[in-house]
Order: sequence, then C-alpha cells, then structure tokens
Amino acid sequence: MPETAVKTSLMIMFRIGLGYDSHRLIQGPPLILGTVPVECELGPAAHSDGDVVLHALTDAILGAIAAGDIGEHFPDDDPRWKDAPSRIFVEHAITLAAKLGYHVGNCDITLLTEAPKLTPYKQKIIDSIAGILGVEASCVSLKAKTAEGLGSIGRGEGIASLATVMLTKGV
Ligand code: MG
Repeated sequence: MPETAVKTSLMIMFRIGLGYDSHRLIQGPPLILGTVPVECELGPAAHSDGDVVLHALTDAILGAIAAGDIGEHFPDDDPRWKDAPSRIFVEHAITLAAKLGYHVGNCDITLLTEAPKLTPYKQKIIDSIAGILGVEASCVSLKAKTAEGLGSIGRGEGIASLATVMLTKGV
C-alpha cells in the first residue's frame, strides 16, 4: 500500500449506530414520518410529534457516538418537548456528533407498519431526511415493510422504525 494511502486510512474513522423506536397508533394525532405528514386514520400516541423515523434515526446517531439515547436527552415528561417537531432531536444528535468531528455518511431506515402504504411518500421522506442530515438523497435509504399480520404491528396497533447510520470522520 502506498504511504499516502496508509496516512489517509489512519485519518478516516467510522462509527456505526443502530436506533429503534415504536409508538402505539390511536385516533386523533397526525401521522408524521420523516417530517412528512402522511394520510392515515390513526396517528402515534406520543409526547412529541411521535415521528418514529426521526426518533430511530436520532438514537442511531447517538448510538454511533455512544452518547446515550433520545430519552436521556429529551425526557418525555419535560413540557419543553410536548408536541415538539422531532427534527430538533436529530439536529441535536448531529450537533453532538459534529463536536466530535463526525458527520453522517449514510443511513438505512426500515419502517414497520401495516398501513398506510408509504410508496407515495417515500421519496419525499428521503429528501427531507437528506436535508436534515446534510447528505445527498442517495445516502438515505428508506424501506417500508408490513408485519404480515403478525403481532401488534400486524394488527395495526402500532408503528415502528429501525435505523442504522454510519458516521465518518476525516472524509
Ligand atoms: Mg418515539
């Protein structure tokens, strides 16, 4: 390996994080996924706006820098976060990562929900998340799956999201 390549590889650091979030679905609240309002009869029972995608993403970023979890940074009994837009949670996690010299390389998100169908919203959600993260849309992956009728999500009682994120430093 050439000397320059060795030096470069030593400067590059990667950290990976995994986030998960779920909410019960109830009559009343709007369903917001990745900041995008989604037409649905049900919405999340939540203290904030209940955006499961952004909550999972926040935890993934916090996890990548070993900085605890979203509940530690934004307790759900704190009135400041009542109906709060969840993008502020992601932005907070990004700021903490940036202080350590890291920025988001890419993320991969899986949404678990029986309804509604998310195909019409996927690109809008991807573009919105890319904007928050400051990355190209090609660095944001969003997959939507049903639970095939299994369990509480399969019965339409809740919605969940998984997110993985790669943080990079020095690239
Ligand atoms: Mg949540």
